[in-house]
Amino acid sequence: MDATVTPRKPEALDGTPLVTAEKVGQTYDKGASGSLVVLESVDLTLRPAEIVGLLGRSGSGKSTLLRAIAGLITPSSGTITFQGRRLTGPSSGIAVVFQSFALFPWLTVLQNVEVGLEAQGVVPAERRKRALAAIDLIGLDGFENAYPKELSGGMRQRVGLARALVVHPKVLLMDEPFSALDVLTAETLRTDLLDLWCEGRMPIEAILMVTHNIEEAVLMCDRILIFGSNPGRVIAEIRVDMPQPRNRLDPAFRALVE
Ligand code: ADP
Ligand code: MG
Repeated sequence: MDATVTPRKPEALDGTPLVTAEKVGQTYDKGASGSLVVLESVDLTLRPAEIVGLLGRSGSGKSTLLRAIAGLITPSSGTITFQGRRLTGPSSGIAVVFQSFALFPWLTVLQNVEVGLEAQGVVPAERRKRALAAIDLIGLDGFENAYPKELSGGMRQRVGLARALVVHPKVLLMDEPFSALDVLTAETLRTDLLDLWCEGRMPIEAILMVTHNIEEAVLMCDRILIFGSNPGRVIAEIRVDMPQPRNRLDPAFRALVE
């Protein structure tokens, strides 16, 4: 890892939670075959300056939980809060990066990144400025006018990241963001992302990421929640002590986004 990384302030880890999930349950109606309990009484807390991993088998309900925290579904039971308030739908403070990138194929890189800002009513000139800054930050400079089909998988996921970061969310949710990429591409993107985070250049306060790759979880996360299946619930928590501390609350970063 990069030796220039600045030390993290440990007290940042004891901050007020950005996101909490309390006793979250999700049951899907399966019609004639009854119902499927996917999540049962899931508790989690995401605090400022931390990257938390959700590690579990395929089908254990990780994406369902992430979608609930993103406000894309309302869980069958339990409560999700963001900055102390109950979440009842998508919030501009929480952005999501999907495994499958979820880009609009008919839009250019720049247009794909601007989409989130349109929904927020940001005026066109400001939209463009912020989208270009996000594109530049994530290493896509020069590809503004390319279409997704002209890009490699790694670059497409960079667009997904730029689109998430451009709204200046406080929380970034990532659902297996590297699992559709080959090993080397995944490693490069992971490293770039971690460098941005470590250097305090990414305008976010905390990351919750789903993965089924334990190595990735250990490399990226401060805490790893182990998800059990049938139904999905947190069965263990691992704290990771990185040899290179990562600092997210750098004053220079704050000056950039506030
Ligand atoms: P993971 O991300 O851990 O692989 P998911 O949350 O995607 O798990 O899915 C957990 C279970 O819930 C799976 O059995 C899946 O088929 C089921 N499931 C997910 N979404 C829906 C849905 N919208 N309707 C019905 N069943 C679903
Ligand atoms: Mg999933």
